Amino acid sequence: MFTYTANPARVVFGSGTLAVVPDEVQRLDASRVLLVAGKSAAKAAGQTADALGPLLAARFGEPAMHTPVDVTERALALVAEHSVDCVVAIGGGSATGLAKALALRTDIPQVIVPTTYAGSEMTPVVGQTEHGRKTTQSSPKVLPEVVVYDVDLTLGLPVPTSLTSGVNAMAHAVEALYSAQANPIVDQFALEAIRLLAAALPRIAADPSDVDARTDALRAAWLAGSCLGSVGMGLHHKLCHTLGGSFGLPHAETHTIVLPHAMAYNAPNAVDAMRRIAEALGAPDAPTAVFDLIASLPVPHSLAEIGLAEGDLAKAAELATAAPYPNPRELTRDGIEDLLRHAWSGTRPA
Ligand code: NAD
Repeated sequence: MFTYTANPARVVFGSGTLAVVPDEVQRLDASRVLLVAGKSAAKAAGQTADALGPLLAARFGEPAMHTPVDVTERALALVAEHSVDCVVAIGGGSATGLAKALALRTDIPQVIVPTTYAGSEMTPVVGQTEHGRKTTQSSPKVLPEVVVYDVDLTLGLPVPTSLTSGVNAMAHAVEALYSAQANPIVDQFALEAIRLLAAALPRIAADPSDVDARTDALRAAWLAGSCLGSVGMGLHHKLCHTLGGSFGLPHAETHTIVLPHAMAYNAPNAVDAMRRIAEALGAPDAPTAVFDLIASLPVPHSLAEIGLAEGDLAKAAELATAAPYPNPRELTRDGIEDLLRHAWSGTRPA
């Protein structure tokens, strides 16, 4: 027996799909849109504002990383002031996070147009920060109603962000395969996401305007986001949340550095998952294959490089083992400190 939780959303995928946003708003029977987009999506937001015409009620241009509650409250004031009945968010996980935080409070429908590979648009989870603390909660209200993937919007995503965001997506897929809730449906999403990303990321590094590689990476991000939304994550996500939350390390870069080391730690207790990942990568061993893939990309390769002090390793290990997520291998203080030391120096797993 197995259980599969689908997170229903209407998805439009392709090139030039940004143009369908006004139709999607009307399909939702909405007519007063709040358009959320940061600076990186300013051009797409301008086009969308023009296309929305009278459907546009207000705009908000400052979504922020990790969804700070004070930012949400400023946007919420616009929702009330302009009788907003739908939010359209264009951008990465930060813009999506703000739309979700508004939906959590008002239940207004969301149309999300993702421009990175973080995958938040496929999950019913919102993480919010207040007074320096990040808390996450899951609610059906938070799950976006419509997701419009437009490959064209990812062509300008800078190479370093594209690659780290892509490995962030790969991490969702890897951990889905050894999740306590793993099931054959999500496994297929995960393996396809890993296969697509491993092939697409080096091509994006070589030519960021390679439309085929961008299409594969965005489709993989969709699949990986579905993994993240359907099954629980383990050690790797716990470590990244700890390093991001308590030491201020950047989200996608941290995922990129930690992933092969977390895989190497879990490998003895996730033999079948690792075999299937290795198969998808066409390599004999999954953790070293993922390490070598990342090593070949122009991204940071060690926690030292992104500013973690060596003296913080013991504290990070203590925090990560204090309230662990379910994981195939037991988390020991020494084992996790050793893992973090490898990630800190960027050494290849044995
Ligand atoms: P982000 O939205 O902050 O984007 C990263 C950077 O890329 C930003 O500087 C942004 O301005 C820039 N950018 C985005 N799209 C661009 C484009 N097309 N062209 C040029 N620049 C562009 O962050 P992210 O990495 O997309 O997402 C990370 C955030 O999402 C974190 O806060 C994380 O916690 C959250 N997240 C949440 C979930 C969930 O399920 N709740 C899942 C994944 C990530």
